[in-house]
Amino acid sequence: MNDRKTALVLGAGGFIGTHLVTDLKRQGFWVRGVDIKHPEYSETDADEFIIADLSTEAGMAAAMDRIFDETYQLAADMGGAGYLFTGENDAQVMRNSSLINLQLLKALEHHQATKVFYASSACVYPEHNQMSSDSPTIAEDTVYPAAPDSDYGWEKLYAERLYLAHVRNSSLDARIARFHNIFGPMGAWDNGKEKVPAAICRKVAQATEGGSIDVWGDGKQTRSFLFIEDCLTAVRKLMDSNVGAPINIGSSEMVSINQLADKVISISGKSLTISHIEGPQGVRGRGSDNRLIEASLDWRPQVPLNDGLRTTYAWVDKMANID
Ligand code: NAD
Repeated sequence: MNDRKTALVLGAGGFIGTHLVTDLKRQGFWVRGVDIKHPEYSETDADEFIIADLSTEAGMAAAMDRIFDETYQLAADMGGAGYLFTGENDAQVMRNSSLINLQLLKALEHHQATKVFYASSACVYPEHNQMSSDSPTIAEDTVYPAAPDSDYGWEKLYAERLYLAHVRNSSLDARIARFHNIFGPMGAWDNGKEKVPAAICRKVAQATEGGSIDVWGDGKQTRSFLFIEDCLTAVRKLMDSNVGAPINIGSSEMVSINQLADKVISISGKSLTISHIEGPQGVRGRGSDNRLIEASLDWRPQVPLNDGLRTTYAWVDKMANID
């Protein structure tokens, strides 16, 4: 390890965590990754990988047995609309994720560690400001009065407050990102936790020529999607900045789910139609408001949506068609 800077990545077996570990290694960090499972779709690039349940005191003690220069907290129960918006997983989502954050704050205090990154979510924003598909209100300072549309969002908002309270009352130095639909290869694609880009890529990859794919609802609900590489650049900029307040990390380019599906179908080269079926949809419209991040970090997404989708589709297609 010598004089290399050290990083601890919690949730290093997940989608963003796997990519973050690789990125931190590229930056020269010595990295310990921790998760309850190994990455599912690739080897980890971490120097050391520990399997632990971070919601327990013993698990967190194994993960953080000493001080790290930077700690990244991404471990959470996470999923797409099919996992987060049905209500069936609410207790597990809230209990597991809050325990992880509480255990981490105790451990950070114990080791007098200061620099921590926390992955919050666009799901913290009030549902009533996202009822229209073309003009949602998602600026950072519109989060209160609080009214997230899911218990996942409420837990994220509570956790933001938990970190901010520790910043006020201790020497903790936190950076908090509200991620908006990050996508790319090596994310969940078929286990019930997949988010819309991976789900659509899978449906298209598995569809037979001339067939159709299912889209939940009328497909006119809008979202924005940020490719993983752009997300990692923003995280680095945020960590190197003095921006202590929660900040959006996402794309401001809103597309409807129908448009997203059309793009993936066109990338596949197949001739497919879209069939609309009942299913959980979440808010009507959401896209990142990037005025704050552009002004304070001079960051903008660089990867066009089509390019990110092409890379992701190629990966999902390979996964879906492995014999
Ligand atoms: P992910 O599900 O792929 O990764 C989360 C990881 O946390 C998983 O590998 C899981 O095993 C691990 N984990 C959960 N409970 C654990 C426990 N008790 N002990 C140890 N590990 C545990 O999700 P992701 O897409 O990589 O998201 C990373 C973070 O970013 C999460 O906090 C998520 O809420 C947040 N986020 C992601 C997005 C997105 O678009 N991907 C959007 C908003 C917020």
